[in-house]
Amino acid sequence: MTNAATGRIDGEAAKTNGGLRLDGLVKSYRGPQGPIRAVRGIDVSIAAGETAALLGPNGAGKSTTIDMLLGLARPDGGTVAVFGRSPREAVDAGLVGAMLQTGGLIRDLSVRELVAMMASLYPDPMDVEEALEVTGLTEIAGQRTHKLSGGQTQRVRFALAIVCNPELLVLDEPTVALDVEGRREFWGIMRGFAARGKTVLFATHYLEEADANADRAILMAHGRIVADGPTTEIKARVGRRTLRATLPDADPSSLADLPGVASAERHGDAVILSCVDSDQSIRALLERYPAAKDIEIVGGSLEDAFLELTGEPDSGEPDADEEKHGAR
Ligand code: ADP
Repeated sequence: MTNAATGRIDGEAAKTNGGLRLDGLVKSYRGPQGPIRAVRGIDVSIAAGETAALLGPNGAGKSTTIDMLLGLARPDGGTVAVFGRSPREAVDAGLVGAMLQTGGLIRDLSVRELVAMMASLYPDPMDVEEALEVTGLTEIAGQRTHKLSGGQTQRVRFALAIVCNPELLVLDEPTVALDVEGRREFWGIMRGFAARGKTVLFATHYLEEADANADRAILMAHGRIVADGPTTEIKARVGRRTLRATLPDADPSSLADLPGVASAERHGDAVILSCVDSDQSIRALLERYPAAKDIEIVGGSLEDAFLELTGEPDSGEPDADEEKHGAR
């Protein structure tokens, strides 16, 4: 199971060693007004082969969590196990590839030279041509790194992260600076890599990115996990949907009694229904009021989810809830 020459464990062995486990992780930073409690007790395990999104607004603690699981920051409390090893051991064995938010590319090298240089640092790397192929870089492999577009640069950074042939790939907000096309390309490449049976954890503050590219979303706010489940479930919890329709003759109190409707209001000829189950509501609405028209259903936003799950809008102030508790 373990290659004696490289100390590397193969994919199957990595799987039996249980993927990723974070237990009771805590981390504070020193701030001008006292400690900033960035991560306040996180327990999570991610099975080998799973693609999970760490979802949350800026300041939620996603990067701090990622830094701890990569061994770049030391937790104040709790433990991290990556395929049964410490983060440092897992990284040294070439089991972990990472693409962090910051970091440029070495200039004046070709894309191929840079990827080959990175490959040479690892015990059991991916073939360089394969890494270029997987990331759609073959055609521009001869280009100098400082001449690349934003999307191409991110794909090179992705190639550098996977050329060690990792079992776990960690991406911290990888598409922040990309346009729509760049994002689409990037996530397509990521999903191709994940489909090889790899474990992927990526941080994002976009619900849509989590929904489209992960099996599971782990929702963080104020340094804690506030929801964790299949992205479909998180979306359903993300709150109510709003159903609008033109319907002059219905009174709001009977509309509020329709199945799946939590509350109803009238604005002129339009009715606005706040729905806990919009599928049920629309069926019932059309059955009882066939004249309803111009129907629109609008989904909940991530901001709504935070309101619902944490009982407050995310202020970006990690200690805001602490102050409130203190004031009670
Ligand atoms: P996210 O990745 O979800 O945006 P971070 O983990 O970067 O969240 O930040 C969590 C909290 O910790 C924020 O309040 C941030 O300002 C603070 N923080 C992060 N890194 C540092 C640091 N090096 N020094 C002080 N405070 C930090």
